[in-house]
Amino acid sequence: MRFRVALLAGKLVNFLCRFFRYSGTSLPGGVALKICPQLIYKMAPAYDQVVAVTGTNGKTITANLIAHILRSSGLSVANNYEGANMIAGVATALIKDCTLNGRARSQVAVLEVDEGSVKKVFPAVQPDLVIVTNYFRDQLDRFCELDHNITLLRRVMTDLPSTRILLNADDPLVVAAGRDHSAVSYYGVDGKQSEDKTGDYDIREGKFCPDCGNSLHYHYYHYGQLGDYYCPGCTFRRPVPDFLACDIKVDDSPLDFTLTVRRWNSSSEGCSAADTVRLRAYIRGFYNVYNILAASSAAVILGVSEKAIQASLLDFAPATGRMEGFIYRGRPCTLALVKNPTGLNEVLKTILRKEGEKALIIAINDLAADGRDVSWLWDAGFEMLDNQSINKVICSGRRAGDVAVRLKYAGVPLSKLILEPGCRESLETLGLQGAEEYYVLVSYTSLNKYAKLLQKMGKDVVRGADQGMPSLS
Ligand SMILES: [Zn+2]
Repeated sequence: MRFRVALLAGKLVNFLCRFFRYSGTSLPGGVALKICPQLIYKMAPAYDQVVAVTGTNGKTITANLIAHILRSSGLSVANNYEGANMIAGVATALIKDCTLNGRARSQVAVLEVDEGSVKKVFPAVQPDLVIVTNYFRDQLDRFCELDHNITLLRRVMTDLPSTRILLNADDPLVVAAGRDHSAVSYYGVDGKQSEDKTGDYDIREGKFCPDCGNSLHYHYYHYGQLGDYYCPGCTFRRPVPDFLACDIKVDDSPLDFTLTVRRWNSSSEGCSAADTVRLRAYIRGFYNVYNILAASSAAVILGVSEKAIQASLLDFAPATGRMEGFIYRGRPCTLALVKNPTGLNEVLKTILRKEGEKALIIAINDLAADGRDVSWLWDAGFEMLDNQSINKVICSGRRAGDVAVRLKYAGVPLSKLILEPGCRESLETLGLQGAEEYYVLVSYTSLNKYAKLLQKMGKDVVRGADQGMPSLS
């Protein structure tokens, strides 16, 4: 009875949100959970498969890629594609997917789950497959410490012995969090990438061996603490990936790499067979190789053929702000969400890989969803922007002043800096710069505002946008 009332209340709130054009990605679930805290426990078993994606960066795009691949292969999928990844957002996605009787419309649920919310969400949804992307420092005021999240995941997974877990082999923190589990698979990126000319501003989080405390050594780094590591003091080292990306081409869109899937022979040592397939997706940025690789590996585990994955990746369009492309004032303009130092560094590296003059907006807010503490700006490698190809940087958002001070200390000449806190005003100013390409880097709470303005003032040119994920507006 309580469940019925909660479900109807959730449905009603969802209807009202839509009626008043309010983006209700968490409110319906929040209301329903207040009435029936067991709501998700009752809804989740209706799905044939529940897939959960957690970690710091790349959760939204990885979960959306998995949902897209599964849909392309003919399955119906429920997912929280807008990135509302706490328990209320997960509940909202399930409420939207079910009928008034509480019956699930979809066969599979693909859920993005905030690293701090796994304790509440995982026991409720009992995932069949969990994917962990990476652990970086993120909004410290909300998530406390990295160690806390890693311990939390390890503890939650011990109560889910039959759940399969897919880990990023290149991140020692992810491996430490999940390797004790009974059913583990690994994905990883092979070989050293082409020399990076942007300098080394990366933040290495997992410096020490989780077993003996020695400093980890690396054969090579990809970014952050991701790479091929080993402990000189004990046997801890990067596990051999079951799913391997190699021969990567990042300079041109689309991203392009070879996926090797190893089929292990349980009766003998080593790999009995390996299948390879060339994957291509219209997404930019080296870090997205990890996201495509994670999603493709998950799809293989879920039984989708490599050929079907290859075909479906070609018409994937990323959600709002994940390097989303527009045409603004006749020039290509890319909108990117930035929320922590490692994510921002990867976006800056991607921008600087392109030839030609660029103008940027960096808009940082300090509302609850952005993280109140903006001191992370000092951990990011803004020094990269002291570069000839950067024509102007417009500092915007509630913390425009902090951005400008940070850029001054990063060595960006004052003549290149413009202070313009307003959203619309900053876009107007950007349009006057006459660079060959524009970039808009924003924190969470101004993402939708910029996306809407760019859709109105510019033209959305994301390939396959009409068939991919619905936009946030
Ligand atoms: Zn060790």
